[in-house]
Amino acid sequence: MGKNQYRAERPGTDTYYITTFGCQMNVRDTQTAAGILESMGYLPAADPKEAKVLLYNTCCIRDLAERKAYAAIGMAREIKAKNGGMVGVFGCMTQQTGAAQELMRRMPFIDFAFGTHQLHRLPEFIHAAQEKGRTTLLEEGNPALDFDLPAAYGRPPLAYTNIIHGCNNFCSYCIVPYVRGRETSKPMELILEEARTLMDQGFSEITLLGQNVNSYGNDWGKPQFAKLLRELDAIGVPRIRFMTSHPKDLSDEVIAAMAECSHVAKQIHLPVQSGSSRVLRRMNRKYTRGDYLCLVEKLRAAMPQVGITTDLIVGFPGESETDFADTLSLCETVRFDAAFTFNFSKRKGTAAFDMEGEVAKEVMTQRITTLIDTIKSISTKTYQGLVGTEQTVLIEGESSRDSSCYTGRIDRGITVNFPKGHGVVGDFVPVTITHAKANTLFGQER
Ligand code: SF4
Repeated sequence: MGKNQYRAERPGTDTYYITTFGCQMNVRDTQTAAGILESMGYLPAADPKEAKVLLYNTCCIRDLAERKAYAAIGMAREIKAKNGGMVGVFGCMTQQTGAAQELMRRMPFIDFAFGTHQLHRLPEFIHAAQEKGRTTLLEEGNPALDFDLPAAYGRPPLAYTNIIHGCNNFCSYCIVPYVRGRETSKPMELILEEARTLMDQGFSEITLLGQNVNSYGNDWGKPQFAKLLRELDAIGVPRIRFMTSHPKDLSDEVIAAMAECSHVAKQIHLPVQSGSSRVLRRMNRKYTRGDYLCLVEKLRAAMPQVGITTDLIVGFPGESETDFADTLSLCETVRFDAAFTFNFSKRKGTAAFDMEGEVAKEVMTQRITTLIDTIKSISTKTYQGLVGTEQTVLIEGESSRDSSCYTGRIDRGITVNFPKGHGVVGDFVPVTITHAKANTLFGQER
């Protein structure tokens, strides 16, 4: 970014505001966009209505995500009309073939739109919009990787870093490989350097991000994720988390590194998607129900207190009552701490788009309700079982519900709220769990 010659029109005065949709990878891309804007002299605005540059970082994983983005971007028209700023849209939605053009045709007030591959060119787009009024539109080209881009990490103690971009898996329902490109790992020395910088800045927990962190290093011919965990542990990152792990790539070496590294949280997000091997095959997940259960056994054998969370899709084409019952029984067997549940949403360009066996909407609704209830009753029992235990909690900030309380997460990733005591934000404190509610624990600092 030292090459960036473009500046805000009024550096130190002009402001920006970025609205983010989608996953943690997008949140991290927004931090990169913010870092780029700040390197140009823009300041963060507290309110989008006051921002000179309004950006929207979009998601296309489900139809709903796209509709939400369209609705939010639509509101920018009024803001722009009032304050004369500029509007830009980027991210997964605009990386889809023809999507940026369509968006700009439907919303002529947008100054520029680009996909996930062009984030490093943000200064150019802003400059062109300043010079020419409208329109800059670039969507092709090589992926923009944030390896050498600045980032506005926000306030400690939590930081996120991308360790691998893209995905090679082509699960039959997923648009991500089409909009994020092929797997490219960030060099290990850059990750370690970034981790040291973050620690110097007071960050206590780093979450390593990737569509599939377990394939970190595969593009160099050898999986390196276990090694990376050990290296980060060795330099003393106080707490290390990671997401997301594809079950087919979760190796014994990674499980051993998790178990043996004291700074690596005993938590894993391991999306199973379905409990039926038949559906998993149609999803092109490349593992069976049995393979998944075997991984869970290995994880629990190595780390009895490990917290396992997952993603589940309901109503994949051809999913029968028996398949769905397999999903419920898998949940009972694994006892997930939490699960993100989704109705199948067909995405144009993916293999599942035309698959036969569409599941009726009402059936999907019924199944997802049953699934959510099942997950809830399992996690409630798990949470109750933690009452009376002592947990190490990183204080992340004030509870949004009660300013006399702090909020943080225990090692296995469950949120706990507790009255303010001796510790301050960024401290690791011992907390005794006093009671549990759905999705949250409550405790008392010792
Ligand atoms: S692993 Fe499958 S679900 Fe995950 S991003 Fe890649 S294609 Fe999508």
